[in-house]
Amino acid sequence: MKEVRTRFAPSPTGYMHIGNLRTAIYEYLIAKSQGGKFLLRIEDTDQARFVEGAIEVILKTLSIVGLKYDEGPDIGGPFGPYVQSQRKSIYKDYADKLVKLEGAYYCFCSKERLESSKKNNDSTSDPFKHMCHCKNLSVSEVSEKLKSNEPYVIRQRIPEGGTTSFHDLVYGTVTVENSELDEGVLLKSDGLPTYNFANVVDDHLMEITHVVRGSEYLSSTPKYNLLYTAFGWDIPEYIHLPPIMKTAEKKLSKREGDASFEDFISKGYLPEAIVNYIVLLGWNPGSNEEFFSLQELEKSFNTEGLSKSPAIFDLNKLKWMNGEYLRRLSLEDFNALALPYYKQVLDSKMDFKKISALLQKRTEILSEIPEKVDFLNSLPDYDIMLYVHKKMKTDVANSLNNLRAAKEAMSTIETWDLANIEENLANLISKLEVKNGQVLWPLRTALSGLESSPGGALELAELLGKTETLRRIEVGISKLTNTAS
Ligand code: GLU
Repeated sequence: MKEVRTRFAPSPTGYMHIGNLRTAIYEYLIAKSQGGKFLLRIEDTDQARFVEGAIEVILKTLSIVGLKYDEGPDIGGPFGPYVQSQRKSIYKDYADKLVKLEGAYYCFCSKERLESSKKNNDSTSDPFKHMCHCKNLSVSEVSEKLKSNEPYVIRQRIPEGGTTSFHDLVYGTVTVENSELDEGVLLKSDGLPTYNFANVVDDHLMEITHVVRGSEYLSSTPKYNLLYTAFGWDIPEYIHLPPIMKTAEKKLSKREGDASFEDFISKGYLPEAIVNYIVLLGWNPGSNEEFFSLQELEKSFNTEGLSKSPAIFDLNKLKWMNGEYLRRLSLEDFNALALPYYKQVLDSKMDFKKISALLQKRTEILSEIPEKVDFLNSLPDYDIMLYVHKKMKTDVANSLNNLRAAKEAMSTIETWDLANIEENLANLISKLEVKNGQVLWPLRTALSGLESSPGGALELAELLGKTETLRRIEVGISKLTNTAS
């Protein structure tokens, strides 16, 4: 059997679209699950859209998510170069060959002439192909024009009648009337190919067996098949993927921050969680299992699970999944990831590891961390009604009393650690003959100034240290005194 070979063929746009990343993952998994090769090819023939640093973004993303390619621009391989702008002469040769095979023709029409003939064409149902007469030029007319250096493009020649069909692994058999296909440009006047030509030539030369790409290419695929047929080349398996949508009508949008992989990373999502989540957008593993590492998928992925209904990107689900990934980390690893976020708001003398122990199970995305821990840095101005808690049986009066008692008791603690704080407060609670919550709730409130906080009174006291704990209790006492009086 032929070796399975897939390729990821992004255009360097400057960012990695979530949909493109999913395509890359599927291509990788199709190859790896069948012991094949996955390669990276940069499709940069549209020089007008050139973006500085864009190739680096692609390489970096693939490295972060762990999609290791077997051949590619930076590592080479037997079918290089893997950057289309470096393959110019190859396309030119094949375009000339295709003209000889009658699958294409030279077109000498100027832009202006094409525009005006488009306008003058009253039969709007007729595609462009009937407007250009260059395909009827004789061989000698063509060579005359070439000799006199007339600028030209090479256009695809579409058969007059009949239909073209292809089979897609997701969409089934697709058939179109040839009369609906336009005779698009294959080689531009600058000598560079269009995507429509380069993808076919490269997929053939690079021996690609499975072409995976967005469903926006479905309608052009018959044209590609005509090219394969004209050259006498084998047609690859096609796998077109429905888009990932924000809602039933709306696409993901980079401007709204939900289309680019880098934006998710900078918001504190883990690459593993993003990969796991997007693999499931359009692929059913055939079980209820939701958590998959790339290594597991390399074994279990199959194309039968791919679906043709557009997937909706559910941000809450991704958040939840990211939270699960964070919880599954070791405390050390979580702490290492959280560190830069702590440093945004906290003094570096704080015991970050202890904060991590409190925060790990309460964090869904890392970028939430600064706002969650900022209260440790400075006590927020809070409403005294926070002290009033029905279930804890606290009100302004007993909170004031118990805070006063706690301040007095805690000021006697010599070695400020969790065990001593706990013992001290337990003694106080039994001496006062009150419920735990009647001391601990006001204390937690005074220390955090928040309705809910990572960690309870004891942990917060330990983190804040003795001086700051006593100071915050004092703030609470004076707030409550002002109201009580
Ligand atoms: N360069 C194309 C794109 O970025 C790739 C399409 C394909 O995979 O064939 O949309």
